[in-house]
Amino acid sequence: MLFNRSRQNLATWFTLSMGSILVIFAALLYWREARDRLQTLDADLFNTAQIMAGGVEEIEYQSIQRIDLESVPLLGDDTLALDTYLRFARWYTPDRQLLQFVGDIPAATLDAPIGLVTLTNTAADTALFPGSQVGLSPIGSPQSLRQLTLPVRRGEEVLGFLQIATSLDSVQEPLRELRLFLSIGVPLALGAIACTGWILGGVAMQPIRQSYQQLQQFTADASHELRAPLAGILSNAQVGLMEPVDPQEQSHRLQTIVEIAESMSALVGQLLFLARHSGQLPPEGLQSVDLGALVQQLADKTQAQAASRQQTLRCTVPKTAVLVFAEPQVLQMAIANLLHNACRYTPAGGTIDLILTQQPTRAILQVRDTGIGIDAADLPHIFDRFYRADTARSRETGGVGLGLAIARQIVEAHQGNISVRSQIHQGSVFEIQLPLRRQKGTHKGKTPQDS
Ligand code: ADP
Repeated sequence: MLFNRSRQNLATWFTLSMGSILVIFAALLYWREARDRLQTLDADLFNTAQIMAGGVEEIEYQSIQRIDLESVPLLGDDTLALDTYLRFARWYTPDRQLLQFVGDIPAATLDAPIGLVTLTNTAADTALFPGSQVGLSPIGSPQSLRQLTLPVRRGEEVLGFLQIATSLDSVQEPLRELRLFLSIGVPLALGAIACTGWILGGVAMQPIRQSYQQLQQFTADASHELRAPLAGILSNAQVGLMEPVDPQEQSHRLQTIVEIAESMSALVGQLLFLARHSGQLPPEGLQSVDLGALVQQLADKTQAQAASRQQTLRCTVPKTAVLVFAEPQVLQMAIANLLHNACRYTPAGGTIDLILTQQPTRAILQVRDTGIGIDAADLPHIFDRFYRADTARSRETGGVGLGLAIARQIVEAHQGNISVRSQIHQGSVFEIQLPLRRQKGTHKGKTPQDS
């Protein structure tokens, strides 16, 4: 429920943000296209007007200066050539009276503003070009027009006004197509964005959902593990409180309570460790550690325990220092977990080997035992929290299934990895690989006792 709502929120926000970007982009694209096309048309219109104005001549007829439009393209011919894109061309005298025109029949006086204007052929505008239906233009029914009115001068003197116009079809038609394309394309793209948002929302929620489920599982497992010892404490305490009080029996009960509380305390300690040491270790806590010395120390400490179980514990480490960057106490805990497991799950007479080797970039530590081994079905889960391969046997040995999870968390926090190979009834090999510390000299690193 919570995840679906979050997924919906993600998809909605994704669609809204991407959709807004898309709509703004489409609007900008349309605006640019419209502006560019109109600018090109205006430039063409202006060029044509310049060429036409170039043909205007002043002649003197019977001592009177007159304007001669004979050499003006189009106006001089009095017809609009079929290949011209102009709708009409008109010449007005300096006092704005119509002198000559070609194309649509104009009003007798010039009342349009100087420069470029767009004339829309709505009912109100038909008055602007009353002869439009009978024009000589090659264009059929009249549409919006782009009109240019220019004063033509010789020096300071205004010779007259040239007015030309062309249909806006060449601008409007592609824009109409673009509008159609955008009005279909943008909603389709929005739909695709919404679907993608929903799918991406699902993908984004997946790891969160997984870790939430893991957390739930972890909480349930932890509560379950704590419930049994709590019930033990409670029942022992209740029986101990019953009358008549037998001092010996009471002492026995109290002893049991202490033992259970100790195991609970160990479990809570492990849980706290898992919670505190998740993720990468802070670099300030890391130091150069000689893994060989650390492993040897651990082997020496465990020797007595192995001997008491009639097990042989051997330790093989290189003579030179194997330096890794680590938190020694924490790393030692991971190796100790593997070593204690090897002792716990190996019967009397078995052998446990601790073998440290060095490769160009990595240190490899193997903890080998000739113990009970792990079933192939259990191997993929062995590092999971609270996982016990053989529950009865593990309980017997006092484990709750956190040792390997802690070991893996520690090794990964040191940027290493941990793996296992095992054959049932043959034994197991746990292997830790850690990156070697890059160093120039071969000085000895710190051991946990030095630090
Ligand atoms: P536990 O505290 O139960 O030992 P671990 O996380 O250390 O929990 O180990 C998980 C399970 O893996 C154990 O319950 C045991 O079944 C199995 N296991 C771990 N180490 C070995 C080993 N060396 N040989 C056989 N089984 C092992």
